[in-house]
Amino acid sequence: MRNIILIAAPAAGKGTVSEDLVKKYNYTHISTGDILREMSKSEDEFGKNLRNLLESGQLVSDDIVYEALKRRLLMDDLDNGFILDGFPRNLSQANEYDKILKEVNKELGVVIYLDVPKEVLEKRITGRRICKECGSTYNVLTGVNTPKVDGICDKCGGELYQRSDDNAESFKTRYQTFMDKTYPLVKFYEDRNILYRVRSLDPVETFKEVERIIND
Ligand SMILES: [Zn+2]
Repeated sequence: MRNIILIAAPAAGKGTVSEDLVKKYNYTHISTGDILREMSKSEDEFGKNLRNLLESGQLVSDDIVYEALKRRLLMDDLDNGFILDGFPRNLSQANEYDKILKEVNKELGVVIYLDVPKEVLEKRITGRRICKECGSTYNVLTGVNTPKVDGICDKCGGELYQRSDDNAESFKTRYQTFMDKTYPLVKFYEDRNILYRVRSLDPVETFKEVERIIND
């Protein structure tokens, strides 16, 4: 299968699409956060340095992320294609990614942008409620997954709560960061004719569209 870069604003549905691709097509899911955590467990020099860095709570530099990504892309479990999730986040990372791909001799594949109107994203985030007992998620604003009884989990009767960062203010900040830093990648990859925009409203329709792209 063709490799995929997924670009999506917060709550645009990236998690669901990745999961479905892994399940149905056996893609390997690569997120830089996971790679860093994974590699910090290894006993080589790189792993030890990474462990110290993460434990001290310092910011991991781009160079270290690049090195970790390169190491990950050299592993032998990627023959079936991989999904890159959360990377590149900006133009300079995208340029570096081109270099990395050359070094490891891999194809970039296709770039899928999950397109969702800002108002919908905001409702998905500010309307999200989570069950204290079983972790099921609901939404009180979108009309999808509305709890049957206000404030109560359908599945287990537990109490629903709102995560403290699921508010309008923090959504605005996260969305703006995405638009400023990451959204320019859409044009960047569009100019290379490898970008596909997928309207991501209904999960079933979204996945069908993604399947059409990767099977093309
Ligand atoms: Zn529950």
